[in-house]
Amino acid sequence: MAQRTPILLVDDDAKNLLVLETILDAPDYQIIKASNADQTLMALMQQDCAAIVMDVRMPDMSGIELAQLIKKRRKTQHIPILFLTAHHDDEENVMLGYDVGAVDYITKPVNPAILRSKVGVFVDLFRKTADLARLNVAMEGEIQERNANERAQRIIAEAARAEAEAANRAKDRFLAMLSHELRTPLSPVLHAVALLEEEETPPAVQELVATIRRNVQLEARLIDDLLDLARIRSGKLQLHLENADVHDLLRRAAQICEPDIRKQNLELLLDLKATRLKLNVDPARILQIFWNLINNAIKYTSGGGLITLKTRDETERGLVVIEVADSGIGIHPDRIDKIFDAFEQAHGDQSIGLGLGLAISRVLVEMHGGRIEVESPGPGRGSLFAVFLPAVEGEVERTRRDLPLDHKAPVSLRILLTEDHFDTASNLKRLLVRRGHEVDVASTVAEARALIGRKPFDILLSDIGLPDGKGLDLMQPFLNASAGRSVAGIALSGYGMPEDVRRSMDAGFSHHLTKPVEFARLHRELLAISARISGQNTAGQETGAVSSLPG
Ligand code: ADP
Repeated sequence: MAQRTPILLVDDDAKNLLVLETILDAPDYQIIKASNADQTLMALMQQDCAAIVMDVRMPDMSGIELAQLIKKRRKTQHIPILFLTAHHDDEENVMLGYDVGAVDYITKPVNPAILRSKVGVFVDLFRKTADLARLNVAMEGEIQERNANERAQRIIAEAARAEAEAANRAKDRFLAMLSHELRTPLSPVLHAVALLEEEETPPAVQELVATIRRNVQLEARLIDDLLDLARIRSGKLQLHLENADVHDLLRRAAQICEPDIRKQNLELLLDLKATRLKLNVDPARILQIFWNLINNAIKYTSGGGLITLKTRDETERGLVVIEVADSGIGIHPDRIDKIFDAFEQAHGDQSIGLGLGLAISRVLVEMHGGRIEVESPGPGRGSLFAVFLPAVEGEVERTRRDLPLDHKAPVSLRILLTEDHFDTASNLKRLLVRRGHEVDVASTVAEARALIGRKPFDILLSDIGLPDGKGLDLMQPFLNASAGRSVAGIALSGYGMPEDVRRSMDAGFSHHLTKPVEFARLHRELLAISARISGQNTAGQETGAVSSLPG
């Protein structure tokens, strides 16, 4: 049964109380009776009521005074009071009653129908208010529940984001570590190839050596692509801008691909008509883009085909356009939009590689403020890739970058090579000794420190990860031991992320080369360093002031 609604009857006369109770008796009412002020207040303390029906006249305290007390208390002030008055009560008394908050008067003798109807109104109001309060509580509960849900969802989303970020960082670390592990064994192979290339060997052996070099370089490229992708996704790919000539870069890329072009019996046509040749770019990255496009043209064109490299000006927008066209397998119109996405390949099993080259190229072109486009009339009808790059005014100052490999160093350098990978160390040492340098090898930090203390060196060529510590910690003792002379440090590392390079620079190294190190690159750096060292050390002897070599 629904809860009964309480009604308080107040009268000092027990008979009157009984009459009132009888009139109001109903199954859904709970009649409470009080015969004086104390009982009234006590009853109200115990429970709320829908209405109080009260005699104005009582012996201990008048109904008016009692009403005043009830209206003063916050808990009871809302309860409607119906006064019962005698006929003879004057108007003033009635007004007083209204003043203290009575809502109505009924004169005695009470008309049962009027009393029931008036009380009924208050009961109705009481029930509706109670319903409303319950609804409010429910709604508040719902709102609280919703808020709690939202908070919980926020917390879950934040936790998921933190987890995803942690997973991303772990993935980056894993990729960096994986590439380190994959690169390390490539260095000694490349160095061994460099040694073999210097030997007088029959053409068949030379061809095999060339195959080994190409494939090791390809392997290194795949590792680099994975690393580049990790860098792009974590926003860590950085450009090192300098002025460069677009035709130089394109020719160099073509030169790198030349053996493959020959091997596949392809024809290469150059039609270089651009006149605005100066770019402000990261030359290594532009070379990577051109190489990737030419290499794709080779990969996807069968024997006897034609590859054309064209350049032209797009004067209105200050762009230079580089086109790599081939007569190869072409691209289906359904697939052409996808090929710039990572891991997307248009030719299923026929595609060769990881499907990363174009994705990386597009990001690189866009980072340079340019764009890349592709066209193909369809399968079997060739493809054309066009790169648009902003040109800058003027001409590129020529510097002699590519010194020949057999170029002897101006001075023989005393090199401390710290490398724990035995094959890498011994092949590198042989290559360096052949160039006229003096090389001591240490395979641990402790050995290197001992050597630094024992004799003077011009260059510290050091691996970073060593069995008993970090090569980074060697640079400072090396600089201290070399005070007064011009020296340099080259870090060799399988880790090539920007923060790895920065750590090497912070430790005092002037160069950071990522493994597998092409000996030609290392040799070029050593030539430049040796030229600087000989110049500075001679000048130092004259002036007596020499500092260590800046980066
Ligand atoms: P990969 O060659 O390693 O698969 P890329 O990102 O360089 O990755 O190229 C993506 C896809 O685009 C290739 O798998 C190939 O299907 C298509 N593609 C790229 N260049 C050419 C081209 N010159 N001719 C035909 N298809 C090409």
